[in-house]
Amino acid sequence: MTHDPNCLFCKIVHGTISSKKVYEDALVYAFHDIHPWAPVHFLLVPKVHIPSLAHLGPEHAALMGHMMTLAPKLALQEGCRPYPDGGFRIVSNTGAEGGQEVHHLHVHVMGGPRPWLRG
Ligand code: AMP
Ligand code: ZN
Repeated sequence: MTHDPNCLFCKIVHGTISSKKVYEDALVYAFHDIHPWAPVHFLLVPKVHIPSLAHLGPEHAALMGHMMTLAPKLALQEGCRPYPDGGFRIVSNTGAEGGQEVHHLHVHVMGGPRPWLRG
């Protein structure tokens, strides 16, 4: 299944639910987290519905490589200061004990001056 009609982030990717867009290309969509923990806090998701990191196979290697190489560029674009004094944190909650609430694979990209609300 490439799209789950009941999935919140599929609805965001397809524009059924509005979001504050950070970036979009053919493979991924990035948008501001609605409850930011840090001065910079956005989510980067594949456009295709993949429930979590636990669902990845070898066929997803290029997609995940794209997301991981894109994230630092978007972090700078959104106001994170450069490494090493600045930087950012990447988190991907996976499963109930991993704290995952939305079951569409996503990475949190957080950064900016501390203290942060959480994390
Ligand atoms: P988790 O699945 O635990 O990684 O958390 C999902 C994240 O999605 C949380 O940080 C929420 O604040 C965020 N979130 C939930 N609904 C929306 C929305 N409509 N727009 C943007 N972010 C959202
Ligand atoms: Zn989805």
